[in-house]
Amino acid sequence: MDIENNMSTKRKHEDDDDDLVTTVIETKNEQTSIKKQRKQKKNVRFDDVTVYYFARSQGFVSVPSQGTITLGMVPEHSHVEQYSVADFSRVRRALHKSILRERKLLPPSSTIESDNDEDEPLPVDDYYFVQPIATRQRRTLLKQAGLVKIDTTEKHELTLIRRSREVCGCSCTRETGGCQPSTCECYLNGIACQVDRLTFPCPCATMLCKNPLGRLEFNQNRVRNHFFETITRLEAEKTQEQIGKI
Ligand SMILES: [Zn+2]
Ligand SMILES: [Zn+2]
Ligand SMILES: [Zn+2]
Repeated sequence: MDIENNMSTKRKHEDDDDDLVTTVIETKNEQTSIKKQRKQKKNVRFDDVTVYYFARSQGFVSVPSQGTITLGMVPEHSHVEQYSVADFSRVRRALHKSILRERKLLPPSSTIESDNDEDEPLPVDDYYFVQPIATRQRRTLLKQAGLVKIDTTEKHELTLIRRSREVCGCSCTRETGGCQPSTCECYLNGIACQVDRLTFPCPCATMLCKNPLGRLEFNQNRVRNHFFETITRLEAEKTQEQIGKI
């Protein structure tokens, strides 16, 4: 049976008893007692990992950009597993490695020791494992999960939803004088104009948009710069952490 999983990690706050920080002086019947109080430093600690396993089913819950069927899970989980954080990370790593071996991105496992290289980075980043799955592959996965007949109503639903998503934005063009507060559908509905790609959803140009609520334009370079800045910052923090440990 093909299984999806859903993970929850319990967190607990722990007081760090080793941290002596403040000294409180109490006065009582002319006697002074000095009481050392430990400041309660709160840390987030991960306790254990609970994984709920679900059989796969046809989705009806998402709208992929392409394809006529989606992947989903049955409403009730089939079983539950409990792991320590370290064990779960080992389990996940082993799973990722088997996927990479299947795709010939890692050499086949020859010895047991080769699976004990826990610190060795994998040739791909974590997000490699959450890439969109092609339609044909989705179909195969559903068949492997025991789905006999694909419900075609999902195909019609997806088409309707995708179409409805194309009908948005205002209709103010250069010919109509751009976005004017009296006619711009975006402004009349209380929203700013939005341009995700050329002429979509709003066809207005920067200079011609007079929507008093503004005009938001998706900026690929800004997103890319933000991505690189974040990665660089996280790597610098990681290096600092490693230096701190030495
Ligand atoms: Zn407009
Ligand atoms: Zn608009
Ligand atoms: Zn506009």
